[in-house]
Amino acid sequence: MKRVFSSENTIDVWQIRNLLEVEGIDTVVKNADMSSAFGEVPFVETWPEVWVKDPADYEHALDIVDEYLYAEDDDRPDWRCSKCRERNDAAFAVCWNCQTPARTVPIAGSGSDPGSESAS
Ligand SMILES: [Zn+2]
Repeated sequence: MKRVFSSENTIDVWQIRNLLEVEGIDTVVKNADMSSAFGEVPFVETWPEVWVKDPADYEHALDIVDEYLYAEDDDRPDWRCSKCRERNDAAFAVCWNCQTPARTVPIAGSGSDPGSESAS
């Protein structure tokens, strides 16, 4: 297993965990006792952590964590890869999945013809 995220904010930890689960990544949350099911070590001041079970998911998981952490500061729209249709954060210069450069259709799709240079 590999640790991909740790925060004193338990909400953030569970948000990250949910995002990873949605992406099909198996996770383990440690040191988080939002549920009373985690009964042991109740008074240890340790930040909750998110771990991925499969090391092969590690890089992907880090991308998701980054996307979560920087989403609040980033007003630029995400974009969708023209080749593989994966969603990419606006900060990415190339597609995380297939490395296609970001010459693609914005997800928000403000214009009907994004490739046109005629108007602006
Ligand atoms: Zn792609």
